[in-house]
Amino acid sequence: MRFDVVTLFPGMFAAVTDHGITRRARELGLWQLATWNPRDFTSDRHRTVDDRPFGGGPGMVLMAEPLAAAVEAAHTAQRTAGYANGRVVALSAGGRPLTDARVRAWAQEGGATVLVCGRYEGIDQRFLEACVDEEVSIGDFVLSGGEIAAMAVIDAVVRHLPGALKIESAADESFATGLLDAPHFTRPDVWRGCAVPSALLSGNHAQIERWRREQALARTARERPDLIAAARAGGLLDERDERFLRGIAQGAGGANPPAVLNPSSAAATTAAEAA
Ligand code: SAH
Repeated sequence: MRFDVVTLFPGMFAAVTDHGITRRARELGLWQLATWNPRDFTSDRHRTVDDRPFGGGPGMVLMAEPLAAAVEAAHTAQRTAGYANGRVVALSAGGRPLTDARVRAWAQEGGATVLVCGRYEGIDQRFLEACVDEEVSIGDFVLSGGEIAAMAVIDAVVRHLPGALKIESAADESFATGLLDAPHFTRPDVWRGCAVPSALLSGNHAQIERWRREQALARTARERPDLIAAARAGGLLDERDERFLRGIAQGAGGANPPAVLNPSSAAATTAAEAA
């Protein structure tokens, strides 16, 4: 898989090439990165990439031509490397929100992608319409540039490439099951007076799985009730799950499901009773 990133700050991408899982995966040849600086595709003495917005207003706007020329150079390099012209994806606060499903599909498709990073007030709309296939947002907030968003895309996609994770831990991560992940604990078994939940020390695999399922249900109900509704609509909750959810809703008066880790909470009590 290959990413070509159009960016005014190519040095920022050392964050993904030089660290952790993405570094290792790149060293294994699972993905490649090339960066394209729009400044290298300007023709004036000052290498100008931005200008003031038509119609007035604050800030500057990235001009279409240096971005278009950078995308064309990226496509040429992709073809030379044996790829078809990759989809062009602009990072944009106004784009379609990135999801786990989209990330997994992206990794499965493989191939090449061109990621275009905006700066300042954004990008000339004519470039977006003529050269960009898709705009992607990483959340409902505004970053000062598309680079961190592009790195979030790269990191999220690359960890799903076969062989990127040493152990296949992606199957039960947050979102994979339609729920958030259950909490994790490691040694020591008592830390500053706080013990690890006893279910995890039981050695009983079925009991541990049930405890984790209930923790995931409780956390999701509390933090992301929208995901519970989606999991229910998708047929991902069974009768036992529904009984547990009714239990915590009643235990907390319905409005405010209890904290996951509080051992005296209704969630923990119900989990213990169920087990
Ligand atoms: N005026 C724009 C914000 C520009 S921020 C607006 O109100 O929507 C500068 C650049 O940062 C954008 O062009 C985009 O590339 C990037 N960016 C900002 N927030 C982002 C987000 N949530 N997701 C993806 N990219 C984002």
